[in-house]
Amino acid sequence: MTNNDTPSQGNFIKQIINEHNRTGRFDNRVHTRFPPEPNGYLHIGHAKSICLNFGIAEEYDGKCNLRFDDTNPTKEEVEYVDSIKEDIRWLGFDWEDREFYASDYFEMLYEYAIKLIKGGKAYVCELTAEQIREYRGTLTEAGKNSPFRDRPVDENLDLFERMRRGEFPDGSRTLRAKIDMAAPNLNMRDPVMYRILHAHHHRTGDDWCIYPTYDWAHGQSDSIESITHSICTLEFEDHRPLYDWFVEQLGIHHPQQIEFARLNITYMVMSKRKLLRLVQDGVVDGWDDPRMPTISGLRRRGYTPASIRDFADRVGVAKKESTIDMALLEHCIREDLNAHALRVMGVLDPLKVVLTNYPEEQVEEMEAVNNPEDPSAGTRTVPFSRELYIERDDFMEDPPRKFFRLAPGREVRLRYGYIIKCEDVIKDGDGNIVELHCTYDPQTKSGMPEANRKVKGTLHWVSAKHALDAEVRLYEQLFAKEDPNEVEEQLDFLSNLNPDSLSLVQAKVEPSLAAAEPGAHYQFERKGYFTVDSKYGRPGAPVFNRTVTLRDTWAKISRKQ
Ligand code: ATP
Ligand code: MG
Repeated sequence: MTNNDTPSQGNFIKQIINEHNRTGRFDNRVHTRFPPEPNGYLHIGHAKSICLNFGIAEEYDGKCNLRFDDTNPTKEEVEYVDSIKEDIRWLGFDWEDREFYASDYFEMLYEYAIKLIKGGKAYVCELTAEQIREYRGTLTEAGKNSPFRDRPVDENLDLFERMRRGEFPDGSRTLRAKIDMAAPNLNMRDPVMYRILHAHHHRTGDDWCIYPTYDWAHGQSDSIESITHSICTLEFEDHRPLYDWFVEQLGIHHPQQIEFARLNITYMVMSKRKLLRLVQDGVVDGWDDPRMPTISGLRRRGYTPASIRDFADRVGVAKKESTIDMALLEHCIREDLNAHALRVMGVLDPLKVVLTNYPEEQVEEMEAVNNPEDPSAGTRTVPFSRELYIERDDFMEDPPRKFFRLAPGREVRLRYGYIIKCEDVIKDGDGNIVELHCTYDPQTKSGMPEANRKVKGTLHWVSAKHALDAEVRLYEQLFAKEDPNEVEEQLDFLSNLNPDSLSLVQAKVEPSLAAAEPGAHYQFERKGYFTVDSKYGRPGAPVFNRTVTLRDTWAKISRKQ
């Protein structure tokens, strides 16, 4: 194990593990798990938990299980199970043969429940859900004992078996742990362990009509799998005494639960319930909409596994809730794509340029560098001809002094091409600029005598007759508010949606992109990083998603600090 370098000084979770390894509590074993409930697609918060759990296992030469916490039959679907597996694999983690389901333990959990009943530690209760809530008391007031609390063991055993056999209707009875209705921790006030639910389960079918609660299933599932460190988010801190109580009563393996603060990011919602709402209301184009904070959405947007792992690493783990600036996430993907994405030219808002002194039929193949950060990426050629497109906002008819792009009478360099000069502005009847007439200086191409002549601006361009038409999707944050969960009274989080989160443009891109594969990453020079959408477009006619612009606000923020 690599345990004598970083883990020894690492975060508070590693410090706890190091201490266990020092005292031999788990015989130097480190076995974690990632326990998603298959009731939605994974999001970037889950990615952090995945990186943490699989990362720690890797670092300590241990293991990490994938366990689906599938105790809630009505909200769970196979589609979610499949998407979760795909996303974890894509992030680069491997649970090997350790794919488990809480539902695999239903029989075992039932046996454990019988054991508690026999020990006088659990009882069948006939209070309704509402009554249970009333009897529970409050933070300042003790609860009241259920009138069914002191049933004899035999009666409890009989009723619990009949609950399982399906003799009672939904909601008519529960099995509850018999702990302490006056406990200061509300989780200890005789929590419900089983509820009756005649519902079909995606794995156990109709075998069961009683289902364990999350509180009853979760800790025992960890114990059954011999998990050493049950890493979870802070809201489970108050449940830890209950989980400890269960394993102690049962006398089974006792994992150490460790809580950390969940990840929040500005402008994003991270609750599966809210993400489901966005999908169901058709606000977005499915769970993998490129504006969603889901792993599948980020993937479609053009994020890479390395960038997400890097982000999780930089965010680290904390004991206190905080919100991370989304600029950090964007910074991580820029860094990765800057190193790896091929450079191409694409014009998002085309304005035609005619080079009046360039021969009509001539086409030159200009050599272009694929990635200045990576010489091994090589070069390609880009066709150049008499009619080109440049970006509409790279031209101004009446520019301010500091505008170093094209204007009447001014010169710019076309990247990998010639210096051109704007001679004439052509307008339609309404005064809109429809094309520019320019001249080129034949001496200014690479290898020619004037190749190094200095002009202030360099523009990207494509050859009009060679360019490929491509739809490009530009994204802004899905929500206009930094904290989308903060809403005015009587409104819900959808009122914070950003109406401009998606815009479609018809772009002209260089012809080499006809062969671009879904998921491939490019830098459109001066315009940002783009990826080929995996859902829309077809071979030869790609649709591009803009992953992120080139302007790195995070680098600016961190330089200032
Ligand atoms: P929701 O809060 O939307 O119901 P959840 O947290 O219950 O989601 P699970 O499927 O139970 O979703 O989560 C699986 C694991 O991922 C849990 O261990 C949970 O603690 C962790 N997790 C979920 N959200 C975050 C987050 N925002 N940051 C870090 N870890 C998270
Ligand atoms: Mg949960």
